[in-house]
Amino acid sequence: MASPTVEDYLKRILLEEEQQGEGAREGGKEGGKEGGKEGGRLSTGDLAVAMGVTPGSATAMAKTLSESGLVEYEARAGVRLSRRGRKLAMHVLRRHRILELFLVRVLGLDWSEVHKEAEQLEHALSERVLDRLDALLGHPLVDPHGSPIPTAEGVLESPNWVSLNECQVGKRVRIARVAGEDPQFLRFLDGLGLVPGVEVTVISRETLADAITLAAKDRPPVTLGSAAAARLFVKIES
Ligand SMILES: [Zn+2]
Repeated sequence: MASPTVEDYLKRILLEEEQQGEGAREGGKEGGKEGGKEGGRLSTGDLAVAMGVTPGSATAMAKTLSESGLVEYEARAGVRLSRRGRKLAMHVLRRHRILELFLVRVLGLDWSEVHKEAEQLEHALSERVLDRLDALLGHPLVDPHGSPIPTAEGVLESPNWVSLNECQVGKRVRIARVAGEDPQFLRFLDGLGLVPGVEVTVISRETLADAITLAAKDRPPVTLGSAAAARLFVKIES
């Protein structure tokens, strides 16, 4: 079994790669804007920032992971998960997201506080217990934040959601996912009733004020800046 540190790196690289993929897909939709980094590699500088470590540490780890065949690493281009590394990373992410759901749904923890707990527990969870948790939760597809849970085979859905910033004024939409794990931000959204599953309508978008006003069902309207709105993903109701 890989060490917790190795697992944390692999999971972080996976999440960054997925984010780049989303950017590339969105870019494609708008017609031609190039998303992601060259060759889909993550620079060790960006990896260091994402992990909260020094660039030296990230580079040293990139080399270690490369020697273990978990990433492809080139000094100037950065890192990319190998097939094996991706599989392992998916497995860590699966454990993390199933644990988060378990902590919320079964143990009754708040969705704003489960990330930190899951970060610890994910490294200690055996295959057997994971399978039991998955069954207990009814083979869930998403975690408490609406993020998709990778399948046991290591497949991660990338649903066609759009951020609140991109959805049409006047259209009723359903919040599907909140990106980011900052407890304060999650509690803030909770206070406004802006959580996955809730229907909202975008009332207006003020480009100059960089703000978007929306109302959740049976709630007074609220105004969010575009940075906050970018972290809320919605499903368009047909
Ligand atoms: Zn989390």
